[in-house]
Amino acid sequence: MISQDLLDILRCPLDPSNTRLRMKDDQLECERCELRFQIKDGFPILVVEEAILPAGCESVGQLPCQGGEAKKPANV
Ligand SMILES: [Zn+2]
Repeated sequence: MISQDLLDILRCPLDPSNTRLRMKDDQLECERCELRFQIKDGFPILVVEEAILPAGCESVGQLPCQGGEAKKPANV
């Protein structure tokens, strides 16, 4: 089980500055892109290649976190 203290500092590796993770069904889920990371022996495996893509998503490239900064309007 992941402690709340640890949960507070964990970030999605695709976009560490803007994301947080939450517990979901014994896995860690990114609040933004919903990529799921498994927990092995009490340690979260924050490796994108081993993470589980959200339903309907076929590749990491489709995830919102993959784009880095959130898209801004082209012209305002
Ligand atoms: Zn993410």
